[in-house]
Amino acid sequence: ALARPQPRVLLLCSPCLGHLIPFAELARRLVTDHGLAATLLFASARSPPSEQYLAVAGSVLAEGVDLVALPAPTPADALPGDASVRDRATHAVACSVPRVRDIARSLAETAPLAALVVDMIGAPARAVAEELGVPFYTFFTSPWMLLSLFLHLPSLDATCAGGEHRDATEPIRLPGCVPIHAHDLPGSMLADRSSETYAGFLAMARDAARADGVLVNTFSELEPAVGDVAVADGVKLPTVHAVGPMIWTRPVSMDRDHDCLSWLDQQPRGSVVYVSFGSGGTLTWQQTAELALGLELSQHRFIWAIKRPDQDTSSGAFFGTTHRDGEEIGMDFLPKGFIERIRGVGLLVPSWVPQTTILGHASIGCFLTHCGWNSTLESISHGIPMIAWPLYAEQKMNAAMMEVQAKVVIRINVGNNRFITKEEIASVVKRVMKGEEAERLKRQIGELKDKAVDALSKGGCSTSALVQVTHVWKSTAGQK
Ligand code: UDP
Repeated sequence: ALARPQPRVLLLCSPCLGHLIPFAELARRLVTDHGLAATLLFASARSPPSEQYLAVAGSVLAEGVDLVALPAPTPADALPGDASVRDRATHAVACSVPRVRDIARSLAETAPLAALVVDMIGAPARAVAEELGVPFYTFFTSPWMLLSLFLHLPSLDATCAGGEHRDATEPIRLPGCVPIHAHDLPGSMLADRSSETYAGFLAMARDAARADGVLVNTFSELEPAVGDVAVADGVKLPTVHAVGPMIWTRPVSMDRDHDCLSWLDQQPRGSVVYVSFGSGGTLTWQQTAELALGLELSQHRFIWAIKRPDQDTSSGAFFGTTHRDGEEIGMDFLPKGFIERIRGVGLLVPSWVPQTTILGHASIGCFLTHCGWNSTLESISHGIPMIAWPLYAEQKMNAAMMEVQAKVVIRINVGNNRFITKEEIASVVKRVMKGEEAERLKRQIGELKDKAVDALSKGGCSTSALVQVTHVWKSTAGQK
């Protein structure tokens, strides 16, 4: 008799690199460690998808994960140019649903489907799972603290009455999480409650409760309260499984020739500050120039994944930069003479950098980061203390958690007019790189790193959580 084909998990990721990276890793693990087949569908906001999308997604092909690049919305479906990042990502997913349905149906003919796994903006695909009778799961690529905020948002909204969240004088207290002050809430939650921006945020939060289960990219030693909310507004919530930290395992061949690695090889141990605001983060012209001066003033070595400034938004590079890899971005925004003065001490990389390899390099001493959740988990996993310079999305909440609860970052002080001075930058770099405080941070994050390793070890809590989920998937696959 023919062997029964392996159950297949279908993963659908919206056009956010910060989601695609952990999705690729999850897909890889399902195949290599859990005896499942996996197809990763990734939506794109642009056509063709950017080089980074293709590189990230392509990195798991060799591991046996099947890939499908979903076409970007056609010009006829395009949103207005000023549509928000979230609207564009949601729209790209919604437009792809008919395609996802076709793919799911045809795959179901050859192997039992074990589950459909989407990210936090994948709700439009729920109908496909229902039609096929397949479990519908979310892989939440942000911390439990944000998921908990989502689960509580409908009731927070109801008690807010005529007011606005931004005017709250008391912080929001979620079980087991650091208190969240109004100024640290995600930007969309601070918008007028009558606005479309807020309505979209609330809708996304409500959707978080409508899945058969949720995998969260965190681990219980980092967020001990993970999964603590079982019922909200009388509604039973999906079961939550902490399966992280899932950070991207990059094939060595992708990085081998990157110039910044040979530069790092020549620097003393623990001497270099790595500066990056993630795949999308941008600063204004004035702030970019001030950061340059601050790094120079700190007198520490640095490697800076630099982006062209953007005056209008702090997520100006979200769907890919306008320049291609290796192309000059022009450095006219840097202070006069800066490039000459920092030669040998600082390295500017105006394109995609191999971040996880950099963080694993012995020359790195600290990470100046926007606190995107992947960057945060990657820094923890490599035991590198952080300087927190959060920009958008839930990054300020992440920074607060890392500062107050985990105690592994120093948060940069934002001055008047939301401007950060070069003196503040230099002083924070010095504090994190050298002295008593630096030693304490290094010790704390070293301990956290060990706990992350434990969570992922055989029998560790995150590994066991994923074993449990996949066990359920396998035993129910093809029964409907
Ligand atoms: N990243 C990278 N090279 C870059 C910029 C980003 O490898 O030049 C990776 C980084 O390692 C992380 C992800 O992109 O895995 C960024 O995710 P994060 O959640 O930190 O921030 P986002 O880009 O979503 O704001």
